[in-house]
Amino acid sequence: MTVIRKLAALRKQIAIWRSSGETIALLPTMGALHEGHLRLARLATKKCDRAVVSIFVNPAQFAPHEDLARYPRDLKADLALLDDIGIDTVWAPSLAQVYPENFATTIVPAGAALEMETQFRPQFFTGVATICTKLFTQVTPDIAIFGEKDYQQLQVIRQTVRDLDLPLKIIGAPTIRERGGLAMSSRNVYLNAEQRALAPMLYAQIKTIAGKIAAGGRIGPAAANAAKALTKAGFKVDYVEVRDAATLGAVKTRGDRPLRVLAAAWLGKTRLIDNCAVK
Ligand code: AMP
Repeated sequence: MTVIRKLAALRKQIAIWRSSGETIALLPTMGALHEGHLRLARLATKKCDRAVVSIFVNPAQFAPHEDLARYPRDLKADLALLDDIGIDTVWAPSLAQVYPENFATTIVPAGAALEMETQFRPQFFTGVATICTKLFTQVTPDIAIFGEKDYQQLQVIRQTVRDLDLPLKIIGAPTIRERGGLAMSSRNVYLNAEQRALAPMLYAQIKTIAGKIAAGGRIGPAAANAAKALTKAGFKVDYVEVRDAATLGAVKTRGDRPLRVLAAAWLGKTRLIDNCAVK
């Protein structure tokens, strides 16, 4: 496995693969890899001839008061995990490679990016859409893989790729969970034992909402009851929403289009997000 840190070297590698007609899959990550990331990485190796994993903790998607400084980083451990599963190349650019002096262009998504995460992290999707567009133009992959764990992010990226005619396919992959249902996340290491025990309740509640709606229950009360239960248990809820699964637009009734339940809530200083389909 090769670790590339300079854009010129990356482009050289990509050109060699392209000249022999090989296809390329990209998995963008911020490192601190867990089994959720590794499942996506294995999928990347299956889908294309070459699999590139990018590791870059992107400052542009963190607000000044957020956890950029303490975000877990362990490049050595990440590389060992990726080597084990047959990743060809890790693209681990420096900050200066990604944001050179006088960097001044951003992608500002609306549509699927409006509301939910954006209400609480206004800078987030601009940072995400900008870094992902850069990664797509750097790596020029045939496909890029994103986890449904960050469902709004997945839909925003799909929208960005569609709106800007970027020549790649976005693949969404299912959320990988701990045994109790908690979605795996690099941020789970922040949780203390008590919070860790409570955390699976977030997924349990969104599943309950999905179940009630699937059984004909009303959307508003189902979401409100879940938010109330989470608050009572000690979560600080940012949002619990039921949305159109494709556009993430508001919905009042079940209708016949696919719906998604999405939620974000704090346990102490740790923010958890999760989502599930209404089946
Ligand atoms: P991150 O490094 O947290 O930005 O995540 C990199 C990619 O891995 C994103 O597409 C995430 O949605 C995805 N991902 C993170 N955690 C999980 C999980 N538990 N299951 C599936 N995908 C995940």
